[in-house]
Amino acid sequence: MNVLVINCGSSSLKYQLINADTEEALASGLCERIGIDGRFKYKSNTGAKVEKEATMNNHEDAIKIVLDALIDAQNGVIKSLDEIGAVGHRVVHGGEKFAHSVVINDEVMKAIEECNDLAPLHNPANLIGINACKALMPNVPMVAVFDTAFHQTMPEKAYLYGIPCEYYEKYKIRRYGFHGTSHSFVSKKMAEFAGMDINNSKIIVCHLGNGASVSAVLNGKSVDTSMGLTPLEGLLMGTRSGDLDPAIIEFIANKEGKNISEILNILNKKSGVQGMSGGLSSDFRDLGAAAAEGNVLAKQALDVFCYRVAKYIGAYTAAMNGVDGIAFTAGIGENDGAVRESVLSYLGYLGIELDKEKNAIRGEEVLISTADSKVKVCVIPTNEELAIARETVALI
Ligand code: AMP
Repeated sequence: MNVLVINCGSSSLKYQLINADTEEALASGLCERIGIDGRFKYKSNTGAKVEKEATMNNHEDAIKIVLDALIDAQNGVIKSLDEIGAVGHRVVHGGEKFAHSVVINDEVMKAIEECNDLAPLHNPANLIGINACKALMPNVPMVAVFDTAFHQTMPEKAYLYGIPCEYYEKYKIRRYGFHGTSHSFVSKKMAEFAGMDINNSKIIVCHLGNGASVSAVLNGKSVDTSMGLTPLEGLLMGTRSGDLDPAIIEFIANKEGKNISEILNILNKKSGVQGMSGGLSSDFRDLGAAAAEGNVLAKQALDVFCYRVAKYIGAYTAAMNGVDGIAFTAGIGENDGAVRESVLSYLGYLGIELDKEKNAIRGEEVLISTADSKVKVCVIPTNEELAIARETVALI
């Protein structure tokens, strides 16, 4: 069966058509600037590549263009839309309502809408994508896969904040965590790849991309994670500050005459390694190159990033009373050997030994710790689309 995986943002839409039997991606791409001027990218496993401007007034237009490309006589990968057996939607926030993926029906749509408050930028866009697919493929079953669901196994002591309890009771303010699909996929893959029994394992997953989070996965279940009510908490990220003293918000507000939403915009979009490096870049390739040429701010940003990842690994080792495996994944985790080496340099006390030659390998699953290392450390490429396709097939 072919599964169309959809990841909708407010003005963008990523898609992938996956043959769920062979787990091969048949086609993938991106619609950008929906409602503005519209840009469409498509590539297939047969080598076809399309990049063009395309009018997309809304997400329904965008999905229509995607479907047309998939069945296109020249560049398409299927003959008709009947060959799409199901659609899997990435949904960012499932609140406390969704601890698992679900088949989408009217009740589920309503429950997702009720979580809009918790992810005001993302959930409404996800719903728009679901509605657009419903309109164009009314008879195709659809599944919602939530970014938060994997972390719903966290115990209270990990998810409650130290604020008056009424805010949890009234508004459900608590830690939810994100990147759950990736943490779930990578922890399972790590156990499989490193020959560990997932049901008897202590794994720390470092999902280090433009957005970054760490999770503690005990016996296959998430017991803690660094992102919180929103993705702003935790690690230093591309443009997000991660953890900081909340009093800084008032301090900057008073000094700079800004309101809370302006400051949150700075913390989300202008901070992180980009802000720390004086606006140089959020991309670790640029920062690495600049640091090598002596740029002090770039080096500081990279140092803070790695130090903070190492601190979270230390914290989660304590949370699980030990660690058997550490997995690095996502753009930085999979590609930046210098970051991995720097993070691991703090963890000698755990008996971790890095194999520097293995650490240079890219693009595949690889054990980067030595045979003598007391903790197995792996690079495990994440594949959220495939994980969504698997969940979708399992549910329908
Ligand atoms: P993601 O959000 O998982 O797509 O990760 C994107 C980020 O990964 C980029 O912003 C870069 O900082 C980082 N990245 C991608 N490729 C490389 C690379 N070859 N070396 C270092 N960092 C990389």
